[in-house]
Amino acid sequence: MHTNSTIELNSHAYQQNIAFLKKTFGKKVILSSVVKGNAYGHDITQFVKMAFDSGVTHFSVFDVNEAKIAHAVLGNQITIMIMGFISELDMEWVIENSIEFFVFDKMRLQLALKTAKKANKIAKIHIEVETGMNRTGFEKRELNAVIKLFKEESDFLYCKGFCTHFAGAESISNYYRVAKQLERYNALYEYICAQGIKPELKHTACSAASIMFPETRMDLVRIGIMQYGLWPSLEVLVYFLNTKKNKIDPLQRVITWKSKVMSIKTVTTGEFIGYGTSFLAEKKMKIAVIPIGYSHGYSRALSNQGRVLIHGQRCIVVGSVNMNMITVDVTNIEKLKKGDEVVLIGSQNDVAISVASFSDLSNLLNYELLTRISKTIPRKII
Ligand SMILES: *Cc1c(COP(=O)(O)O)cnc(C)c1O
Repeated sequence: MHTNSTIELNSHAYQQNIAFLKKTFGKKVILSSVVKGNAYGHDITQFVKMAFDSGVTHFSVFDVNEAKIAHAVLGNQITIMIMGFISELDMEWVIENSIEFFVFDKMRLQLALKTAKKANKIAKIHIEVETGMNRTGFEKRELNAVIKLFKEESDFLYCKGFCTHFAGAESISNYYRVAKQLERYNALYEYICAQGIKPELKHTACSAASIMFPETRMDLVRIGIMQYGLWPSLEVLVYFLNTKKNKIDPLQRVITWKSKVMSIKTVTTGEFIGYGTSFLAEKKMKIAVIPIGYSHGYSRALSNQGRVLIHGQRCIVVGSVNMNMITVDVTNIEKLKKGDEVVLIGSQNDVAISVASFSDLSNLLNYELLTRISKTIPRKII
């Protein structure tokens, strides 16, 4: 092993997830694979390749850097939609390459128009409207000016989509707020149609909304977390299972994160383990050192909390998570050797460390945990 840990992406699991999602949404709904945040830590370069091989041709990214990576891998075989940041300097590349993008303020709209004219191309724009998240999106009072520009400059501005984003569809406690957002979205859509702008695609749903509020699926769903085999929250999973006769989770985790035992030692009763005094050996213990720490994305919050799998057994992290190492209790593993496999996320024999249990312990959302996994760890598609 050249590196202290490795990540595997399970293409079979991914295909199962995509098959489930497509079946759930039906043929008419475009599935856009959300690959921001380095494809939720999976590695965007390898992930888009795997997704494309599984039949996915629409990708949503946050910024131009991510768009460039996906474009370098798959070129014009795919549609790329930028939902967030575009610097002024990058707009030319975006429009030249027919990359689609959200527009949520007048300045970006003006820049898109100017750039499209210069390039003599048409800008493919998704108008994002503010419906209650209060982050990005045009307010209703701004829409008249937007509509006017689209009408006047129809050679350069094309309304590819009309969209919004929900503020927390993964929790039933936000039901009222989300329902209000949907209502406002629909009213704004009616409004711009009445003014003579007909967007090609309506889209609002992320993973959670697509399950909790099927009416939000419309023409396209922007699916991040679920394609990676994880649920946006336990609430969404429970809600989904309650609608099904067989109570089986249809999603499969795509990522596995593994390392190896670096060294083993015995600690006598009364000794502290690691920095400071956070762990006291109350009995004679055997400890394994694993060359993974917070610099690799293994959260410090997992100090004295995290579990890893060795020889098919759960072993608890003892002491604090260091920058490059953790120590785990292996007192009960008899034939342990240096170099034995350690699973940080994934399964060994019949035992699993799911991302969810991992992040419950560290109080991180699935999302944050995954995106923190260091980019330098090699990923491999299996
Ligand atoms: C991240 C994101 C999504 C995907 O969210 P998931 O919960 O991972 O499905 C969809 N839409 C927008 C605007 C996003 O930023």
